[in-house]
Amino acid sequence: MHNNENSPVRYAPAKRSLGQNFLVDQNICRKIVHALDLKPGDKVLEIGPGRGALTRHVAERAPGKYVALEMDDALADELERQYPDLEVVRGDAMTFDWASLAQEDGWKIVGNLPYNIASPLIWDIVSKAFFARAVFMVQLEAGQRLAARSGGRDYGALSVFVQSHAEVELLFKVPPHVFRPQPKVTSAVLRFFLRPQRPTQHDALRLSSTLRMCFQQRRKQLGTIMKSQGISGYLEMLSTLDIDPVQRPETLGPEQFRALSKLLPPDFLA
Ligand code: SAM
Repeated sequence: MHNNENSPVRYAPAKRSLGQNFLVDQNICRKIVHALDLKPGDKVLEIGPGRGALTRHVAERAPGKYVALEMDDALADELERQYPDLEVVRGDAMTFDWASLAQEDGWKIVGNLPYNIASPLIWDIVSKAFFARAVFMVQLEAGQRLAARSGGRDYGALSVFVQSHAEVELLFKVPPHVFRPQPKVTSAVLRFFLRPQRPTQHDALRLSSTLRMCFQQRRKQLGTIMKSQGISGYLEMLSTLDIDPVQRPETLGPEQFRALSKLLPPDFLA
């Protein structure tokens, strides 16, 4: 699949605006692709293949279908030249129709994500796409928030929303020196498995409204927050869920947030 008999490619300088920090360490590339557990014939979608650091390792596993979303046209052209079987979609991963990935196709999604869009993109993907597993590299701080358990400083709306949809595992950290150009930050690779009982689109909207309400005032007690929002019957709601009104939002687990969002009045959608 890999067509590399031509002379070495002369790439344009990396674009900071597109978060272009290219992986140059083959061991890290291998570890990321290994975490996808690819079988011949699998359907793979790669986000931001760039200069093809991961692409080469995926292509070697003989995927049945391999789609790549790349926003940089020059890099997309080069990828098409090198990988004739790769279907390159030119465009913004943030506006891609994630709901078009059907459950029966068992997609495996991979990407060393541009840091500035990683968290909203993962939020979108876990709530819209069907996938068998996903492996993403993100900035370490974002990775810690995505994988955080309740009670800690990193735990917030992102952790709850994403973990309500998917099981999240921080696999390993990646130091800056394995990229060109080198970023100033450490990175982390995370793996995601969709939960079988993922919230419906409607429930996901309610959950995100609930999270916005709670984590905008995370230092306050839940009772105070709900009272200030004029939610009638909030004490009964909390007691039904065995939640003490003096608890702060970060003490609730994803399941409790999901249950709370279902009890809030129907007009609560922001
Ligand atoms: N996968 C390559 C690697 O590991 O070396 C490149 C990773 S680089 C961090 C991010 C890649 O995503 C770049 O190729 C960049 O052009 C592309 N990109 C940036 N923003 C994007 C977007 N909104 N949609 C799709 N691709 C994007």
